Amino acid sequence: MTQGKLFVISGASGVGKGTVLKEVMKRRTDLRFSVSATTRPPRPSEADGREYYFVTRQRFEEMIGNGEFLEYDEHNSNYYGTPRAQAEEKMAKGPVLLDIEPMGAAQVRKSAPDAVLIFIMPPSMEELERRLRSRNDTPEDQIEMRLKRAVWEMEQRVWYDYVVVNAQLEPCVREVLDIIAKECGQTA
Ligand code: 5GP
Repeated sequence: MTQGKLFVISGASGVGKGTVLKEVMKRRTDLRFSVSATTRPPRPSEADGREYYFVTRQRFEEMIGNGEFLEYDEHNSNYYGTPRAQAEEKMAKGPVLLDIEPMGAAQVRKSAPDAVLIFIMPPSMEELERRLRSRNDTPEDQIEMRLKRAVWEMEQRVWYDYVVVNAQLEPCVREVLDIIAKECGQTA
């Protein structure tokens, strides 16, 4: 059976990853997004089953116990994980994109060494903080926690396959699309 390539995209909260990924998905319609499960409450703009499957801690821990995750991690006071069955089903059809942080990316690297790991960097720490605050959807204590974690996350970029800076949306989207085309054996 042919398997679609697995692309892992990581980047600190506020880097604009969501916007980049939406644009990438619009232009590469064969790419399927793996919808994670999380115990974090939904933001006003989010819908269950689209951005995430929003589940209780009890349900998430049941899923861990049943071995239902390809990878999972607890960060920012919540669990996040990739449901294995869903990811495998999508990979049977074509390339799949996972938006996960470095702890999860390390687990994917172990279980799927062929996965392509891409890290999105902000142009500066100041800009990251500005973007995170301007979203207006994250409480102040969460912002502090996310900025602290961002420093550690950015240090992890050294073991990723590619590092892309999101200074401006369009060049960043193009760079990610080029990487995907190249890794899928297509010329960009
Ligand atoms: P947010 O709460 O802002 O949606 O996501 C916070 C962080 O969790 C982001 O860095 C995102 O990449 C990461 N994340 C989302 N889904 C998963 C997942 O399934 N597994 C892991 N390990 N991280 C995830």
